[in-house]
Amino acid sequence: MATKRIYSFGGGKADGNKDMKDVLGGKGAGLAEMSNIGIPVPPGFTITTDVCTEYYRAGKKLPRSLEPELRAALRKVEALTGKGFGDAGDPLLVSVRSGARVSMPGMMDTVLNLGLNDRTVEGLAARSGNPRFAWDSYRRFVAMFGDVVLGMKPETKEDRDPFEVILTAKKEAFGAAHDADLPVEALRELVSEFKAEISRRKKVAFPEEPFDQLLAAVGAVFRSWDNDRAIAYRQLNGIPAEWGTAVSVQAMVFGNMGDDSGTGVAFTRNPATGEDEFYGEFLVNAQGEDVVAGIRTPQKIGELQAKWADVSRQLLAAREKLEHHYRDMQDIEFTIERGRLYLLQTRSGKRTGLAAVRIAVEMAEQRLISREDAILRVDAEALNHLLRPVFDEAKKAAAVKEGRLLAKGLPAGPGAASGRLVFFAEDAAAWRAKGEQVVLARHETSPEDIRGMAAAEGFLTAFGGMTSHAALVARQMGKVAIVGCDALSFDYHARTMTVTRRAGGDVVLKEGHWISIDGLAGEVIDGRLETRPSEVVEVLVEKTRDARSAPTYQRFAKLLSWADGARRLKVRANADQPDQARVAVAFGAQGIGLCRTEHMFFGEGKIGPMREMIVAATPEERRAALAKLLPLQREDFRGLFVEMAGRPVTIRTLDPPLHEFLPHDEEGMRALAEATGKSVVHVEERIEELAESNPMLGNRGCRLGIAYPEITEMQVRAIFEAAIDAAEAGARVEPEVMIPLVGMAKELDHQAAVVRRVAQEVFAARGRKVRYLVGTMIEVPRGAVTAAEIARTAEFFSFGTNDLTQTTFGLSRDDVGPVLARYLEEEILAVDPFVSIDQDGVGALMRLGVAGGRATRPELKIGICGEHGGDPASVGFCHRLGLDYVSCSPYRLPIARLAAAQAALREAREAASKRRAGANGKRAREGRIARDAKAARNGKTRDVAVASPAKKRGGRRAQVRA
Ligand code: ADP
Ligand code: MG
Ligand code: MG
Repeated sequence: MATKRIYSFGGGKADGNKDMKDVLGGKGAGLAEMSNIGIPVPPGFTITTDVCTEYYRAGKKLPRSLEPELRAALRKVEALTGKGFGDAGDPLLVSVRSGARVSMPGMMDTVLNLGLNDRTVEGLAARSGNPRFAWDSYRRFVAMFGDVVLGMKPETKEDRDPFEVILTAKKEAFGAAHDADLPVEALRELVSEFKAEISRRKKVAFPEEPFDQLLAAVGAVFRSWDNDRAIAYRQLNGIPAEWGTAVSVQAMVFGNMGDDSGTGVAFTRNPATGEDEFYGEFLVNAQGEDVVAGIRTPQKIGELQAKWADVSRQLLAAREKLEHHYRDMQDIEFTIERGRLYLLQTRSGKRTGLAAVRIAVEMAEQRLISREDAILRVDAEALNHLLRPVFDEAKKAAAVKEGRLLAKGLPAGPGAASGRLVFFAEDAAAWRAKGEQVVLARHETSPEDIRGMAAAEGFLTAFGGMTSHAALVARQMGKVAIVGCDALSFDYHARTMTVTRRAGGDVVLKEGHWISIDGLAGEVIDGRLETRPSEVVEVLVEKTRDARSAPTYQRFAKLLSWADGARRLKVRANADQPDQARVAVAFGAQGIGLCRTEHMFFGEGKIGPMREMIVAATPEERRAALAKLLPLQREDFRGLFVEMAGRPVTIRTLDPPLHEFLPHDEEGMRALAEATGKSVVHVEERIEELAESNPMLGNRGCRLGIAYPEITEMQVRAIFEAAIDAAEAGARVEPEVMIPLVGMAKELDHQAAVVRRVAQEVFAARGRKVRYLVGTMIEVPRGAVTAAEIARTAEFFSFGTNDLTQTTFGLSRDDVGPVLARYLEEEILAVDPFVSIDQDGVGALMRLGVAGGRATRPELKIGICGEHGGDPASVGFCHRLGLDYVSCSPYRLPIARLAAAQAALREAREAASKRRAGANGKRAREGRIARDAKAARNGKTRDVAVASPAKKRGGRRAQVRA
């Protein structure tokens, strides 16, 4: 049987439902579900994502056999609406909408009002009794079709949209302030001028036949899966190229039928703060995209009540129903046609981190969802928002008093950002690449700007509301943003922004000027402003705020305490100094997973003896220099042990190549020679001797400790003396000595022997012992492969996934920026492997390491201490690998805690659903056996069907991009 390619919806029931996002796309699944639960949606049908794959495989052609299916689906819509597609008497118009499995707002294309031509427009005018509306719809259609299907684009980035240019001229000619002021006559002229411009530029006639329009539009929407902005969006969000988009074709409803019509977008809760209030905007006498495009500044949803009480009631009822049904905050699109409400879209709404935490915790407390759901609901990465700095109120107040408050807009992305003004997305990316901090300011942003927006600290727009593109992206990317700041105007050619002020005259700011934006207050401030810690940081780290008066902190703490109850993985921090350890404990660290001892050598008074040690000519000289370092290092360790109060502390012996500690300029060398009483020539020679052409693969890690055992000796002595000092002062201590860069068991044996010998010496001298472990980092492939042998000596492993990624790929992280950027752009890599573990490659080595290590030593403690320890996807992977802990930087601990809980819950849920499926399968098998037995008794034979494994959607690997 051929697979079903088209799913109808509307008229109170649908072929599909909300669980079919893979097939129908998020939008199609939402439309189907709404029509199933009795929410009014205009009827239509969805063409599956599989057809998109077919389309690309066939070289961007729609399968011929789709046409009769399309006609049949159209007939159902005609029956439900009582209108005819292409019928000049009462024409059915449709929208052709894109929709991928996960929402990619505005990245792909949509065509509205399809089905209009020179005949049907007259029918629409006559039926509606509103020629203005009919012609307005027609000119919109010609422009959208021209843009999306025929590729009418501005010729340069400074250019305006070709149809915009004609429209503006027309408004001038007719003295019309807004689009809505244009008379019918002007709209008629626009249609023919638009068509003329299309044939002038594209040398094609505008298709009049509605079915041709439909086929062309469906193809164009499929192609929009592969436009630049969709590709950029996929890269930023790790969405596979082979998913493809579905296409929904839906009967039009008209928000532009007059003053009893309108359109809007809303969130069932506030997407910026998470407050439980209906939040949205609408425009009277307008069509869908007008609100999002921010062409007119919309009205608040609260004003709907006074205007159209009945519509407002219908909308509130839909809000209730949707939230209870989906049990999540929804982002909806609606249209009112002559006093009647229709919903056009529902999806789980994008929200700031602040809002995500509030909504999850409050929904759990309202018993709308369980605590487990609440944990799973919050994107772990989003917790970052709650830790991000805000402007120091006092400093901001001072700036305002100085007259530096430039303007106010809508607070669309909370947080504080300062940066230099740029006006083009390309510039934002280019400046950022040069190390500049930028704020992207524009009339409005559009999906093309996505890459530049990712590069900016924040954005500022003159137009658009809280649901505009800039606002949406800010929430999603966690950027600071102010939108709808109508005091701003731009001259893109001159590269200036003008701020119109009520008092004090206009201010003209040039590209590169520093500004600051407060995304919680919506204030734009001239110059660079200092920031202060967030509420959570004030309570936990600075301890300058009382937890009881900190509601955001309260919710944050509640969610994390639920998460701690659900996770199996422990979390540790990478911290080198006592003050970092204090922050780590505040954020929930259960130990230190990596103390990089070399960082201590850069501290005050330490680099001198360190250099002395390195330029030493003999082991005796080296020992003398090391003796100076010993007390300094011991003091640092003691501080760490005290702060960690009995939690395990993993200390790594010296790792980086020695030349990193030496001066490389002449003056520095001369000073070093003077300080150490050596000749400048000797210092130079030593530096030359230590220079390496490939330091990443050079004399570092355990290789150093093997070449200069006295360095390891000193460090280990400092560790154990500090441990005993701390123990004598009443602290519980548990040092774990970690040897870096081990690829061979004998390397570890060598260093472990030094550690054990020195430990015994210290214990004997002090007459006291502490428990300790000796282990290693697994960070070169050979270490992972020979883990079983290494584990004979190692009492723990810690995956150093930064180096393991470099050595597995053979890529030096410091040199491959451009290579990685290219690979991501070409979609050779879906995500940066230095950000999220490459599970297939590096992950396979980790799996080997775990299996080998635990084969030798079943209780082997295993963790990870690379940057990946704070990346949610990597944390999930570590959970599934069965590691004991992840270690990350202190500020990422909350993210790791939540991600660890999510991994545990997902695993439990999967296991439960497998058990259920197993039980069902067993019942089904038993049922079949019983039936077969019965049939056999009755003397009938049964064909035992060989079940072909159902085509697994998730496993589909077809390349959509031809
Ligand atoms: P996007 O994914 O970019 O939001 P949509 O497919 O949702 O694109 O459509 C863009 C706009 O057009 C939305 O505001 C939507 O509400 C409106 N729209 C789409 N289909 C219809 C329709 N059948 N009737 C009226 N408005 C529609
Ligand atoms: Mg939409
Ligand atoms: Mg390393």
